[in-house]
Amino acid sequence: MGSNLGDSLSTILLAIGALEKLSVTPLKSSRFYSTKPVDCPLGSPDFINVAVHLTVSSEETPESLLIKLQAIEKSLGRQLKTIHNEARSLDLDLILFGNEIRNSPQLTLPHPRAHFRAFVLTPLADLDPDLRLTGMNETVRALKQKCSDVELVTIVSNSQADYPKNRIGG
Ligand code: ADP
Ligand code: MG
Repeated sequence: MGSNLGDSLSTILLAIGALEKLSVTPLKSSRFYSTKPVDCPLGSPDFINVAVHLTVSSEETPESLLIKLQAIEKSLGRQLKTIHNEARSLDLDLILFGNEIRNSPQLTLPHPRAHFRAFVLTPLADLDPDLRLTGMNETVRALKQKCSDVELVTIVSNSQADYPKNRIGG
């Protein structure tokens, strides 16, 4: 998830709280990262990026989960976009859903840009550095090391990242 508009830290914390309700096991969160905007309009604010791992109920599908993610985005102030990659209060993207693959206009799984974006791979590697995005040979740790913009990702101070209690990755 990412936020670069408004009180991003509060929004991310509220989003994690909402996502926790969708998970049947305690949600796991990465560390919190402050990242430089990538592929965004000039002058865009920095983002906070976090990755979380949910265990959803057996009835949940990628499509039903995406609808819920979009409802959470909306409830936390996400406006319809008018400019490509403009600042947003909250972006909740589905990176992986088990080993599911999708190629519809509504949903691409794994997320089509996850494998080359440091702001995705770095939090994802906190959750599981040995994870392989479905269909890819390399682990997220290896993919992260190949990112040219990896140095743009820094950790938001630990005091802010104390929540949630199940945060992993140091
Ligand atoms: P972006 O995340 O690229 O900044 P948006 O959040 O506005 O842009 O999403 C645009 C569209 O991307 C959504 O309407 C959604 O249907 C689609 N989409 C396709 N694949 C995914 C995915 N894996 N996760 C989230 N949205 C996705
Ligand atoms: Mg999105």
